[in-house]
Amino acid sequence: MDLKASIRAIPDHPKPGIVFRDLTTLMGNPEAFAHTCGAMAEAFKSRGVTHVAGIEARGFIFGAAVADRLGCAFVPVRKAGKLPSETLRRSYALEYGEDTLEIHKDALPAGAKVLLLDDLLATGGTARATAELIREAGGEVLSAAFVVELEGLPGRAKLEELSLDVWSLTQFK
Ligand code: 5GP
Repeated sequence: MDLKASIRAIPDHPKPGIVFRDLTTLMGNPEAFAHTCGAMAEAFKSRGVTHVAGIEARGFIFGAAVADRLGCAFVPVRKAGKLPSETLRRSYALEYGEDTLEIHKDALPAGAKVLLLDDLLATGGTARATAELIREAGGEVLSAAFVVELEGLPGRAKLEELSLDVWSLTQFK
């Protein structure tokens, strides 16, 4: 199926010069959504994934569906101040300022094999902070998986610096 056609491009969002890839149109198309989650689960079904870690907020939507298909646990990685129990936190640089992500300290048992999952890889800062959190919590990151990878940005290289395997279902230049 033509997955790219189900993803809407929003020019100049959130600011001039940026083309935002809007995945709400993919989510709103049941065939495209099932195809996406099915393909991601298929790619990792033989890798022994014990946990899918999804990044707030769109990583929750795809990550939970993929975890369900894999029959494994789902772990939310959230913006600062949202998780109720004790957390580990990582801050990472944005173009202006910084953002902070958290994971529950006890989210991962020893030996957890984790699939990091988000909707889109751009500069890689979000996923890199998440991979560091997963490792600090005691998990092994089997792969960092994305519905969309924006090529031409340093995201993949930034993750590969951490010796992470990077996987994407579809790519845009
Ligand atoms: P990065 O940290 O790799 O620069 O940015 C990735 C994060 O920002 C992801 O959590 C993703 O949801 C969000 N993001 C950045 N650009 C886009 C975009 O064009 N479309 C969507 N759907 N999300 C984006």
